Amino acid sequence: MSLCALYRAKNDGKDEIQFFDNSISTEIDRVYAIEKGLRTAISDNELYVVFQPKVVLQDSTVNGFEALLRWKSKELGNVSPMEFIPVAESTRMIIPIGRFVLEEVFKKVKNLLNEGHDDFKVAVNFSEVQFRYSNIIDDFKTFIKKYNVPSKYIEVEITESMLMKTCDENIEQLNKIKSLGISVALDDFGTGYSSFNYLTKLPIDVLKIDRSFVIDLLNDKKSRCIVEAIIELSHELGINVVAEGVEEEKQVEYLKGILCDVVQGYYYSKPDEFNNVKKLLGRKL
Ligand code: C2E
Ligand code: CA
Ligand code: CA
Repeated sequence: MSLCALYRAKNDGKDEIQFFDNSISTEIDRVYAIEKGLRTAISDNELYVVFQPKVVLQDSTVNGFEALLRWKSKELGNVSPMEFIPVAESTRMIIPIGRFVLEEVFKKVKNLLNEGHDDFKVAVNFSEVQFRYSNIIDDFKTFIKKYNVPSKYIEVEITESMLMKTCDENIEQLNKIKSLGISVALDDFGTGYSSFNYLTKLPIDVLKIDRSFVIDLLNDKKSRCIVEAIIELSHELGINVVAEGVEEEKQVEYLKGILCDVVQGYYYSKPDEFNNVKKLLGRKL
């Protein structure tokens, strides 16, 4: 976006170049501050993981969580993952950071198993950079052994845009993940070059319909058609469907009516610290 702005400014005259130069330099300063802060964020205990419940629509029970990373920086305050994850990716710091998140997830799964739960999954987000440059298969094997946690309690969330990059290698990694017994969810479905073709080609267990469709669901007939078609096709392929970002009861009712399997969203619960949400597991909301 900055580059577009720069090019536009160049065409528009000198004053605007000044204006955009300033905003670009502010942006660069911010990215630099994030990059610098991230370098010590793990060792300074500034990173932590929150968990958002996933709710089975049929009976309104919580059957698992998605792990979402948070950063409370001493210098910058709370920084959104939408802002710092891209920086972590471009510097490859996402590799140690992603490993930290994965280990946190294993610890929490262990805790739930110790408390007698046995029918749940905890999902963890993965970046393309982690697939490409780090040995995530070894990380999984290490944590499975270290925490003595069966892999079936873990789910990996990936995005379709990630699969478009260096496609074959990433699919090979996905197959390895699957062969460990870990399930795979395709996140943000509908935001990229969503193609039903993926669904037949990829080793996907779960499809997550992006929040933008859920928002449009009640006002836009076309969105309703698309969502209904996605659900129907997914079910025919044996894929479970999760709707993301559900905030209203009407959305819940509609999604239930079209046989969506699971929902996630503020309507049921915001992402929260593990100790606050773990009591919801198995409960009816
Ligand atoms: P995502 O994986 O699509 O996660 C869903 C985002 O939607 C989360 O934002 C969540 O807090 C938010 N959300 C959930 N329910 C609702 C709702 O009802 N309404 C609204 N408005 N938002 C809702 P968050 O936590 O800010 O994370 C943003 C993105 O950052 C994630 O999108 C994911 O792409 C990335 N991310 C977060 N944690 C990690 C991580 O550990 N590793 C990687 N690689 N990426 C992560
Ligand atoms: Ca996700
Ligand atoms: Ca998503």
